[in-house]
Amino acid sequence: MRGSLRNSLLAAALLSLAACGGQGSEERGGADAAPSENATGASASSTQTPAASPGADVNAARISAARSTPEDWLSYGGTYDEQRHSGLSAVTTENVADLGVAWTYELSTARGVESTPIVVDGVMYVTSAWSVVHALDAKTGEELWVYDPEVPRERGVNACCDVVNRGVAIWEGKVFVGTIDGRLVALDSGSGAVLWDTLTVDLSKPYTITGAPRVVKGRVLIGNGGAELGVRGYISAYNADTGDMDWRFYTAPNPNKQPDGAASDSAFETVGNVTWGDEGAWTTDGGGGTVWDSIVYDEVNDLILFGVGNGSPWNRDIRDPAGGDNLFLSSIVAVRPESGEYVWHFQTTPGDNWDYTATQTIILADLPMGENGALRRVAMQAPKNGFFYVIDAASGEFVSGNNFVPQTWTTGLDENGRPREVEGARYGADIILQSPGPLGAHNWHPMAFNPDLNLAYIPAQEIPQAFASDPRFLDDPVRWNTGADFDAGTPPDIPPGVIKAVRGTLKGRLLAWDPIKQEARWSVEHRSAWNGGVLSTAGGLVFQGQLDGTFTAYDAATGEQKWQHDVKSGAASGPGTYEIDGEQYITITTGWGSAYGLVVGLDLDNAAPTLGKVVTFKLGGTGTIPEPDAVAIERKPAAELFGTPAMLETGRIAYHRNCQVCHGSLAISSGILPDLRWSAITGNAEAWNSVLIEGTLASNGMVSFAEYLSAEDAEAVRAYVTKRAHETLANEAAEAASGN
Ligand code: CA
Repeated sequence: MRGSLRNSLLAAALLSLAACGGQGSEERGGADAAPSENATGASASSTQTPAASPGADVNAARISAARSTPEDWLSYGGTYDEQRHSGLSAVTTENVADLGVAWTYELSTARGVESTPIVVDGVMYVTSAWSVVHALDAKTGEELWVYDPEVPRERGVNACCDVVNRGVAIWEGKVFVGTIDGRLVALDSGSGAVLWDTLTVDLSKPYTITGAPRVVKGRVLIGNGGAELGVRGYISAYNADTGDMDWRFYTAPNPNKQPDGAASDSAFETVGNVTWGDEGAWTTDGGGGTVWDSIVYDEVNDLILFGVGNGSPWNRDIRDPAGGDNLFLSSIVAVRPESGEYVWHFQTTPGDNWDYTATQTIILADLPMGENGALRRVAMQAPKNGFFYVIDAASGEFVSGNNFVPQTWTTGLDENGRPREVEGARYGADIILQSPGPLGAHNWHPMAFNPDLNLAYIPAQEIPQAFASDPRFLDDPVRWNTGADFDAGTPPDIPPGVIKAVRGTLKGRLLAWDPIKQEARWSVEHRSAWNGGVLSTAGGLVFQGQLDGTFTAYDAATGEQKWQHDVKSGAASGPGTYEIDGEQYITITTGWGSAYGLVVGLDLDNAAPTLGKVVTFKLGGTGTIPEPDAVAIERKPAAELFGTPAMLETGRIAYHRNCQVCHGSLAISSGILPDLRWSAITGNAEAWNSVLIEGTLASNGMVSFAEYLSAEDAEAVRAYVTKRAHETLANEAAEAASGN
């Protein structure tokens, strides 16, 4: 195989994405090993008493007016339209250079942080790893209370992409959070006391919640995740006062195509069921389609729009051999807020086969796209599949679309917005290299939109993937059983120089996209492919964090860099802004775990450490950000080389099927979870067996894999990881000797 193709395939295989989150950081001795020390129980610990219940009057009228009251940040995307564009304009392109640190707050975690803070009546509500909620004085960063839902650590292994949380919702003095173990919890905004706590999932299945709830007309809307592990997706609406369920809309049919007694029944009878065959893994696996991120409310058309995730398993040949479109996978669906009644859908990736979720940011806007430049109300999305879509918000009709990154799986969209797939994109036994890969051309990182400039700002990425069908799907069920081969393209031996070459193939950029012309206006290239969420402001700025620890402001019209600050941790979440006592604050949460953080250790040279913090800036701020503690890991193999070639091959395959989604492709960890190459446990066969097979670290989240690995398999994984340690050091020595 030629070098460049080989490297590309390897790159793709390395990113064989999907990282879960499982283990607590047993080797870091970090705060994740146990519930937060800030909290004393499953109720809040109050360190200061706020004067009143903040947000007591946040209701439909106040959220509707959010655009004209930009001093608050009242919902995940800022307003119901979720443009992440603030009307605040005190910080401008002219004075942004004077932005300095106002305060910082320690979230006490080294796991991923994806939270956008809610700010109301001078109080900030922010979430951290393991679904912990922190209430802070938004002016000073002083802690008001902390609520820890005490998620059992062994539930963490169900999280595909780290034990993250993207934030809370507020409504009439209540703060709502979804938890990794599938609960929706209502807290008193003033004290953090639990008002109600409702289980939203079947705990016998690997559901998780990472997304932020939204509240519309007194109903709290929440979905879940788990489509890599075999679940059936849905979104539910709960009464904000009582926690009782109002309605549920499933996104894949009931396995026998009979009604569920749910809001989605009529949608499946009329349009959904016929797009699925009568047999295939979906009838036992659930089909997927989890609603794990975007939910917006279109007040003009009185519709809730939500984004639906990938199929389960990914490989449609296995999921549904009949080969249908499989509604409502990879779709945007519109329903009525009171009843969940289906109104329309638009499917971005019919018959999803590649983890091309349509859960990415949905933004509502009025664009001058109608006849004679009349405003047309549209929904915009840049999902994983690489295309930017503009669709009619009232009807779901396709308006326009174009690819915003290079892509290899289609020759474009037809007049209805349906992708024209290239031959071979639906992979078989032979490995294909495809862009985008499952990490997507755009992932969860929030996109923003400036309605004055009519520009969308996309955290875009180029991360290809080697796909092949998985010959072991049926005879070797594992937690991650996607029907796509997770060790495809990972070679037995890694020659010197390859890791560096692979890293060079990954690209990430902030892309300013004109949705009317469907073309790029400007873009800024980043060091790392995985790049952060975006905030747009009326000061003519866009703000974005990076994995390398920089937080940057760009001129919204030109992309010119106007300000940058080292926040001393990788940052990926959506920044926010608010105003108190006439001063505008810009805030961001740091910490970059998530899918990329767990699986893509090879991008480590481009990344700062991950440290959970809230960092808040204002003009003239003179604060400092604490220096991170240096964590030195001795890079020394814990054992001598051992194992026959056959044993090492068994270990390589078993590692990539069971371990890489948390500990990194090719056993290269980013450090968020232990790097097994340098782990003392790897040096001791007995200790290794007790962890992998007996589950002695289950309370930290490293559950037993006895159901999936024999003792011999586990020992083979140890041999493979040991080999990778020796190989890494040998390659580094060879690269140093050759001057590369
Ligand atoms: Ca997925």
